[in-house]
Amino acid sequence: MTLTAPGSVQADSSAGGPIPPCPMRGLVCRNCGATSAPVAEHACAECFGPLEVDYDPELLRAVTREQIEAGPQNIWRYAALLPVGQDPADRVTLDPGLTPLVRADRLAAELGMTGGLWVKDDSANPTHSFKDRVVSMAATAARGLGYRRIAAASTGNLANSVAAHAARAGLPSLVFIPSDLEPGKVVQSAVYGQTLVTVDGSYDDVNRLTSELAETDEFEDTAFVNQNVRPYYAEGSKTMGYEIAEQLGWRIPAQVVIPMASGSLLTKVDKAFRELVAAGIVEDTGWRVFGAQSAGCDPIATAFDNGWDVVRPVKPTGIAKSLNIGNPADGPYALDAVRRTGGAVGRVGDDEIVQGIRDLARTTGVFAETAGGVTTAVLRRLVEDGRLDPSRETVILNTGEGLKTLDPLLPTVTPTHRVSPSLSSARQAGLVG
Ligand SMILES: *Cc1c(COP(=O)(O)O)cnc(C)c1O
Ligand SMILES: [Zn+2]
Repeated sequence: MTLTAPGSVQADSSAGGPIPPCPMRGLVCRNCGATSAPVAEHACAECFGPLEVDYDPELLRAVTREQIEAGPQNIWRYAALLPVGQDPADRVTLDPGLTPLVRADRLAAELGMTGGLWVKDDSANPTHSFKDRVVSMAATAARGLGYRRIAAASTGNLANSVAAHAARAGLPSLVFIPSDLEPGKVVQSAVYGQTLVTVDGSYDDVNRLTSELAETDEFEDTAFVNQNVRPYYAEGSKTMGYEIAEQLGWRIPAQVVIPMASGSLLTKVDKAFRELVAAGIVEDTGWRVFGAQSAGCDPIATAFDNGWDVVRPVKPTGIAKSLNIGNPADGPYALDAVRRTGGAVGRVGDDEIVQGIRDLARTTGVFAETAGGVTTAVLRRLVEDGRLDPSRETVILNTGEGLKTLDPLLPTVTPTHRVSPSLSSARQAGLVG
């Protein structure tokens, strides 16, 4: 099974507007550079290195601001820079993207930041996390490759998004999650009426189980969005980088702080910036990417601190469950992007994460899940340690919605007053003089 012929130009779609050529040539190994057709594999046949989408550089360079701006108000405005979905009829999608880029002046003032601070708020996506971007890519590739079912091993948000995409497209799905996930994420995975399997183990255990299932005959017709179609999946994260640049008026911010689980999102935001520069769409003003992890799951932060190129797996703990991948597949590539751009990786403990959620909510009106608390708290740390320059423009990524992870807030975030419905009771509580 392969996807549409590379570089093929198709007729106008019924939805209107010209369909751009597909810029994908095939897949390429990030380790040895071997190329292959656009198939459903994530590991190189030569060296088992990770496969990535290989684009025709000429086609990427031909993309213009005007072409993007004429597109729909979602990730598909960047279709000319993506591996699949150029023809709207091919898409399996909830049309995520173009989420708000929120100016965070009051948080900046508290942190002593003078260069401008923004929050890219991906809680505004259809299933309330950035995962809708990657699942739209993976599900579209899966259907294009002839699969009849989509599946995933997930720390929660991916499960939510896969089940919702399947429900919208009328495609069956199966998602596997650790059984100790937050109730909000379990309910949101179950509500779409798809198959939901809870596994008594960590995410890394779940991932191992799905890898084994994928090898069986029963699962031959099933695309695991973050396994056999992972090269396409990962490209969806580039749209976060494109949007930040476009929403800043086609400018790349000097610094970006990004939460890391597998590390894929961080590498793709950096890749998106490089592609926009190569296409002449933005000026190369330089940028630094910073990674954020929790102290309960910090394998990439530890490798960064020690100057290692390899990432040693850990056993994750702590409240930032969406980031709890102990053996991050893209860890070495995330390290490379951070080091190449002169960034850093920070880590924060659970109390700081809760404080980060509260700080962001109190100063911007954005209610983040624990991953956004990690990012906000790491921003504070990086500024305090002098590793992030407070005088340069900075964007932090909120990748998920606070309502999904209420549990860690319940003990400390409470109503300020309780009164009976009478003026005297309100007076007693000190609300009126
Ligand atoms: C999956 C996820 C991430 C990180 O994703 P990777 O690409 O695996 O690093 C960040 N934030 C949230 C909320 C997520 O669900
Ligand atoms: Zn290889």
